[in-house]
Amino acid sequence: MGEYHRKGFGLKETVKPMLEAAYASRVVDLLRMKGYQITRGGLTVRLAKEFGFCYGVERAVDMAYQTRHRYPDKRIFITNEIIHNQSVNKSLRDMGFLFLSGGYNNGETYSDITKDDVVILPAFGAPVKEIEILKEKNCILVDTTCGAVVKVWTSVEKYARDQYTSIIHGKYNHEETIATSSRAGARYLIVRDLDEADYVCEYILGNGNREHFLAKFAKAFSANFDPDKDLGLLGLANQTTMLSTESMEIGTRLRGAFMKKYGPDETKQRFRSFDTICSATQDRQDAVNAMMQTPPELMIVIGGYNSSNTTHLAEIGHHRSVPSYHIDDAGCMISRSQIRNLPVGAHTEIMSENWMPQKETLTIGVTAGASTPNNKIGDTILRLFDLWGEDTRELIAEIERLGPVTPVPASVDDHEHDEH
Ligand code: SF4
Repeated sequence: MGEYHRKGFGLKETVKPMLEAAYASRVVDLLRMKGYQITRGGLTVRLAKEFGFCYGVERAVDMAYQTRHRYPDKRIFITNEIIHNQSVNKSLRDMGFLFLSGGYNNGETYSDITKDDVVILPAFGAPVKEIEILKEKNCILVDTTCGAVVKVWTSVEKYARDQYTSIIHGKYNHEETIATSSRAGARYLIVRDLDEADYVCEYILGNGNREHFLAKFAKAFSANFDPDKDLGLLGLANQTTMLSTESMEIGTRLRGAFMKKYGPDETKQRFRSFDTICSATQDRQDAVNAMMQTPPELMIVIGGYNSSNTTHLAEIGHHRSVPSYHIDDAGCMISRSQIRNLPVGAHTEIMSENWMPQKETLTIGVTAGASTPNNKIGDTILRLFDLWGEDTRELIAEIERLGPVTPVPASVDDHEHDEH
């Protein structure tokens, strides 16, 4: 194995101006200074008190920039998107980073890697097999896997050692869950939501059909998984970015099925769980829930369409009957009548009509997923005022009177940031 780096390269101060130029926003700074709310001409924009870049993403992006400076003449690969945000991945591609998979892959493969290359592991980690291949290459590895993800791996590795089947609340095709399941040993099953968890509960209670089970979860279990043998000892883990209320309810229902089948004493031996939702995901969900105590008239949620935590933020308003639009960036707001957005539960972007009501006053809630940089949030807020018909020059002048921008990333240092 070649060099392995899990911490930065002591270049935090060197890359800080570049990160600020690329991702900071004075609009967001202004919102923070004004108590997360501003009103102009009848439009009130409320920003959730926790939003945007989480510590794991800040760290991953910071380390990528540091890596570029540390190795200016080397090829730098990333095994996948570093985080789920188009603008960040595009910036890295423009800086010469090469992607081994995902939407920014230009045909590069693992066979292209030599010992002289640098390979970055993204914030959501990489599967065991990929890391083994990279170790054999003797290349330089820069591991930005978030400490909160490593914590989930520790749970499933322990389940595997104790011969428990890991039941993972997550999306079978999400990079983090793929990486987690690769550490779950011989047996795992991935459930996406409450309906799938209920289905498993019924099977545990003897009310299922084996063939139907195997077909339903065909892409979501380990090789040779046998629902008749492998659901007797279960350890629950979560993809870190799932809806926390749903994860907790899944744990409650599975435990309930075990209680019915085995009784309380045996359930203690047979069913284990750890809450592995990360604190950043939890904080962002809590902030939207707090906002919903006095609900805005509509919600704008900014983030990549493949960002799990962003889709769950959009669900919170939607479930409270607040019209919620998950957008990729400000450019999705075509006009006051048209907005491109990803509806809750859908996989394809649509165009919605008449999304910004014509009325005297309006309150819009705004939040952003953990991989959304502040500049994307600031652009969105300015665009909202622009579409409302407000002259944004006064707002921009007020912003320009602010002092220096809040440093971004604000909390990254050169040390690994473990949980959290
Ligand atoms: S969302 Fe959570 S687990 Fe994922 S990178 Fe951010 S802090 Fe880490």
